[in-house]
Amino acid sequence: MELCDLSATELLNMMRRGEVTSVDVTRSALKRIEEKEKTIRAFITLTPELALELAAEADQRWQHQEKVGRLNGVPVAIKDVLCTKGIRTTCASRILSNYNPPYNATAVQRLLDEGAVIVGKTNMDEFAMGSSTENSAFGPTRNPVDPERVPGGSSGGSAAAVATGEAVLAVGTDTGGSIRQPAAFCGVVGMKPTYGRVSRYGLIAYASSLDQAGPFARTVEDCALLLNIISGHDPKDSTSASLPVPDYIQALGKGVKGLKIGLPKEYFIKGLDEAVREKVMDAVGLLAREGADVVDISLPHTPYAISTYYLIATAEASSNLARYDGVKYGYRADGDIEDTIHMYEETRYAGFGKEVKRRIMLGTYVLSAGYYEAYYLKAQKVRTLIKEDFDRALETVDCIITPVSPCLPFRIGEKLGDPLQMYLVDVYTVSLNLAGLPAISVPCGDVDSLPVGLQIIGKAFDEQMVLQVAYAYEQLRKG
Ligand code: GLN
Repeated sequence: MELCDLSATELLNMMRRGEVTSVDVTRSALKRIEEKEKTIRAFITLTPELALELAAEADQRWQHQEKVGRLNGVPVAIKDVLCTKGIRTTCASRILSNYNPPYNATAVQRLLDEGAVIVGKTNMDEFAMGSSTENSAFGPTRNPVDPERVPGGSSGGSAAAVATGEAVLAVGTDTGGSIRQPAAFCGVVGMKPTYGRVSRYGLIAYASSLDQAGPFARTVEDCALLLNIISGHDPKDSTSASLPVPDYIQALGKGVKGLKIGLPKEYFIKGLDEAVREKVMDAVGLLAREGADVVDISLPHTPYAISTYYLIATAEASSNLARYDGVKYGYRADGDIEDTIHMYEETRYAGFGKEVKRRIMLGTYVLSAGYYEAYYLKAQKVRTLIKEDFDRALETVDCIITPVSPCLPFRIGEKLGDPLQMYLVDVYTVSLNLAGLPAISVPCGDVDSLPVGLQIIGKAFDEQMVLQVAYAYEQLRKG
């Protein structure tokens, strides 16, 4: 056990007592990076010098007991979709491979303001489109549990970095499952907050009505700590909610006795791996023995979730990605190009990967005259029905429990040639983005040494309940 294997909460206590320094902790993470990166490749860009500089500054603050932030001296990794001032931010795309943002995303700025030590920018599916981190222009990340397998995606690099100890905490983003599914696949905790809880300023847009940044950690307490810091209203993002942020750590420890937990019958059907189902039901059993009241519920529009998501997400993506034209940002095709239109074409042809192009074409199609009503508009209506399913269910229960993924971490290459198979992996996660609700993935055991994630879903802006149940379960499981 090295320093980088400890939780942020433990490390902060040790640094406060003067038992270790942030430089010690940061060196330990950098050493782990050196050992692990050859195989795992969780990062696109590493920032070791900056990390040691930030760590030395954090140590100064500890020493003088001045402006000691809530993450003072803790190594954190950032998904490469969040803008970092002066640090290359690529979105794992060739088209942004030389983009150096002139500003920090609000979530990143809040981390820095609290003294966090940035160790690097993590790998992801290009523009966050994917479920395996294989769609990266920088090559795939491997699952630390079994390097022949994917770490999940699109925030696979953030999940892997936390699982290996290359970082103590990480930030990811979740548009349709991209925090929860990689957390499940790598055996760590990951949470998608309510839409509007965390500012999207400086989060490079994939699908703006679904995108949300959130924490990765190895414990629920650390997850709550990181959420405390990145949450809250931001005048720079009009979709961020102007609601007070409760202290999420205070919510932990209240237990589950008397809580009503709903199990949606549509989530436990054919297509769900039997071994995954067993692990999830074991977890539910443990909570029931602890005094939770488990009831069956129905979310009848579940069968439409995947198609609704892939219509809305691609429509928004096609519009958001129109800005990459070789003029304003990043890569521009050069050579013998006769006019501007050809420059656009050549830039986008060479700059985007296969999956991104597929989605731009799909999205352009569903928004085009003649198809708009049949696809995009209909998907918006079904989105409302899906949201109403959850609103109705959550009137009768405190939270909902489901699997995160219908399958165990799959092999690298296994689903890459079959987009539909890849999309189907998102069946249990996309609905929460469509409904805008908070949901966490917390480890609930292994099958043949491969981790399984338990999804706990709450009411809008009731992250406390989600964390309370997750924490109770984590403690029970530890025994
Ligand atoms: N796997 C989903 C997709 O490919 C979700 C991605 C995400 O949450 N960013 O769109």
